[in-house]
Amino acid sequence: MALKVWLNDKLVDEEQAKISVFDHGLLYGDGVFEGIRVYDGKIFELDAHLKRLCDSAKVIRLGIPMDHNTLAQAVKKTVKANNLVDGYIRLIVTRGIGDLGLNPLICKQQSLIIIAATIQLYPEELYEKGLTVISGATIRNHPLALPPQIKSLNYLNNILAKIEAIDSGAGEVIMYNHLGYVAEASGDNVFIVKGGVIYNPPVQSGSLEGITRAVVIRLAKAKKIGVVQKDLTRFDLYTSEEFFLTGTAAEVIGVVNIDGRVIGDGKPGTITKMLREKFFEYARA
Ligand code: PMP
Repeated sequence: MALKVWLNDKLVDEEQAKISVFDHGLLYGDGVFEGIRVYDGKIFELDAHLKRLCDSAKVIRLGIPMDHNTLAQAVKKTVKANNLVDGYIRLIVTRGIGDLGLNPLICKQQSLIIIAATIQLYPEELYEKGLTVISGATIRNHPLALPPQIKSLNYLNNILAKIEAIDSGAGEVIMYNHLGYVAEASGDNVFIVKGGVIYNPPVQSGSLEGITRAVVIRLAKAKKIGVVQKDLTRFDLYTSEEFFLTGTAAEVIGVVNIDGRVIGDGKPGTITKMLREKFFEYARA
């Protein structure tokens, strides 16, 4: 069945959901977006996603063409129009139509796109077996070049790293920052476990402030598991007892091998599995 897509101020059929070739979202990757899950018909952490979208937009001096409540309603209407029960929403705001120059300020009207569909990032068996990852040579954007907290339409930095993973047959790539500390995966946040404590790089080390990350930290703390934010090195990852990634699309997935080093007993660890379970309990509650 054809999807209904929200375009600017209304729902249209998928075939009518088109934007101009002069949209600066296309010409320059000038825009911001969110990926949001729907579980059992409920939109997961919608307020947190809208807040992050607004923060990203503010930093790049992009107006959001609707207030928070109207935007939340538009997202809900799009989910409803597509009868989406379990799925994935892509919410995009681009700079809009301009000319062939860079100047964003001549773009008078932002484009707003909401797609409600489905996503399966990894085959189900990988969640059981765990992922093999590599350390990427491509570093995460220098925070003084483009703050990694902005969820912008320009993902070339992450795409270059992802290509490294694909070339080497790995499921994901770990990206480091300009100082050599762990930043994040190409589309997920990084966690390790050592001595029963969970460690995770601070967002200032060069990662997106993941919404799944925040939920998983809350769930771990509720289980009285210590969660410490500190800079992590390649050594820390190699010698971790458990290793997992979090993200809207990936959810919570164990890592069992990095650069040929086996993590734990080569299967997703106990804390990883418990947090994955708690995550779904919370998401479906
Ligand atoms: N880092 C990057 C670069 C991402 O694109 C994402 C989202 N896919 C994440 C981390 C995870 O963030 P969230 O849990 O909010 O999806």
